[in-house]
Amino acid sequence: MTNKQDLTDKVVLITGASRGIGYATALEAARRGAHVIAVARTVGGLEDLDDAIQAMGGATTLVPLDLTDYDAIDRLGAAIFERWGRLDGLIGNAGMLGVLMPVAHIAPKEFEKTLAVNVTANYRLLRSMDALLRQSAAGKAVFVSSGAAKSAKPFWGLYAASKAALDAMIKSYSGEMANTSVQTNLFNPGPVRTAMRAKAMPGEDPDTLPAPAEIAPFLVDMISPEHNANGQMFNMADKSLTAI
Ligand code: NDP
Repeated sequence: MTNKQDLTDKVVLITGASRGIGYATALEAARRGAHVIAVARTVGGLEDLDDAIQAMGGATTLVPLDLTDYDAIDRLGAAIFERWGRLDGLIGNAGMLGVLMPVAHIAPKEFEKTLAVNVTANYRLLRSMDALLRQSAAGKAVFVSSGAAKSAKPFWGLYAASKAALDAMIKSYSGEMANTSVQTNLFNPGPVRTAMRAKAMPGEDPDTLPAPAEIAPFLVDMISPEHNANGQMFNMADKSLTAI
């Protein structure tokens, strides 16, 4: 298990916080004392999160937005600067599966939307939050990848390409940050019992998979001040930390 590192007074931004891994991660970060800035499109999911965090005495800022609204990401950066002047943790978790089909059959709109959410939005987050992470005493960013980035099985080309692009971008960015106080890593959760997994593997018994709450503590550990790593990938399957 994790050491449950304390996040009291830390300002943490989590994308995809309306359900699944992001929701559980936001709850866990709040449980450790962080102020959670929760981003997703579904207001109901964000409000449920807010209720759950308030019930345990925590605090959130809800940010209902579509991450392909890049100007909104810029505005969010400006708002965080105004209110806190820094960002201690960024968890880029939001993602979409897109479609599982032969590469040549993928509709252009589907391809572009999946790349927009899984890659471009994370680039825009880094572009908007970089200066804020540098203002933290120990700024940490972690992005949620997938084993698909390397396995790239038939019919998984769209999702795999998006996660491979994310991995490459984070490898470069973490290298660029090597001489700063900002550390950036990747997290591979393995199969988790969420809506996305059910869409990808409809025949699978979800009860055979870990729940998001079992994964979340390990993801939250990666933004704790004690987590001293940069340019690494944490693999949930064997709890290993390896160079990207
Ligand atoms: P879910 O589909 O359950 O949750 C996805 C989250 O991303 C939701 O909160 C959703 O919020 C948000 N999101 C999607 N598109 C947008 C958008 N355009 N703007 C803002 N938010 C958006 O998926 P998981 O929890 O399973 O996935 C979380 C991450 O883990 C993803 O990056 C996924 O690729 C990765 N992953 C998951 C695995 C699994 O087995 N579950 C395995 C490996 C990796 P909303 O719809 O409200 O906007």
